Amino acid sequence: MKTTDRRRFLQAGLGGLAGLASVPLMSGLAGCQQLPSRQPTGSTTARKTVLSSEKLADRVTLITGAPGSVVALASADGLTLVDSGAADSARAVKASLAGAKVRTLFNTHYHADQTGGNALFGKEGATIHAHVITRQWLSTDYYVPQEDRWVKALPEVARPTVTFREKGEMKAGAERIEYGYLLEAHTRGDIYVFFRDSNVLAVGDVASPLRDPALDWYAGAWLGGRVDAMDDLLALANDETKIVPAYGPVMTRAQLQAERDMMLHLYDRTTELTDHGRSAQDMLDAGVMKEVNRPFEDPYRFLYDVSKGLWAHYTNFGGNVV
Ligand SMILES: [Zn+2]
Repeated sequence: MKTTDRRRFLQAGLGGLAGLASVPLMSGLAGCQQLPSRQPTGSTTARKTVLSSEKLADRVTLITGAPGSVVALASADGLTLVDSGAADSARAVKASLAGAKVRTLFNTHYHADQTGGNALFGKEGATIHAHVITRQWLSTDYYVPQEDRWVKALPEVARPTVTFREKGEMKAGAERIEYGYLLEAHTRGDIYVFFRDSNVLAVGDVASPLRDPALDWYAGAWLGGRVDAMDDLLALANDETKIVPAYGPVMTRAQLQAERDMMLHLYDRTTELTDHGRSAQDMLDAGVMKEVNRPFEDPYRFLYDVSKGLWAHYTNFGGNVV
């Protein structure tokens, strides 16, 4: 099936998503997720935060090491942040902002390494924007099968207060900000945030030049969704756009294109093998991961998640699954 057919199917399915997503499903995979620590806050075993910052444009600074990326846009009435880092990095992130007030905070998705600072900034009056599904995840206790434990919902003050389903725009001073949904790319609530005038595009965990792509298949993410999401990002970017992943260095449009092309190749190969009833181990044995253009940390784990996602979406790629 061509990408456009896959997209049409996915978009047609959007109408039914609200019902499906009314209660977050269990997460079968942590992926990139930095799960909230078992240790109480203030534990002496807490990770030490070492932040770095890099100016991406006159008004935009990238903070890394939280442990994910935090992107900060400065305007006369305060800051707009994309993601708030992990809980044990929150004070360090705040200190790095040199006293500027955070007016607006976007969460690219619900994972704890993107939302751990929500409580701190929410308490101080930030308006928190996110996809409606991200708010649902953060508002409900959820089970983590691989650790056999429940993660508690965030307190009300840490939850997104402004939610959306598709896309929107706002201004912060002179900067035009555009944001929108990236359907089924990494979780079921991923968004991009595009600082249009500064030409900086924050993409969360939907892309990384270094990390194995994480597909939270249990919650609805799959390889087809990731390819389509990358197409949406490519349509926003030009050759000068600075594309900021949650992990790894800033990407160019050409690097994102190469990553998307690799994902599409993997999509074509793995859907064909899935059509013939092949497992993740079969895919590995068939040499699928020898065809990628960068090293993967855990190729089998990636293919396992790909396979799970494809089986959950086999009607999307027209498979006559054996
Ligand atoms: Zn993530």
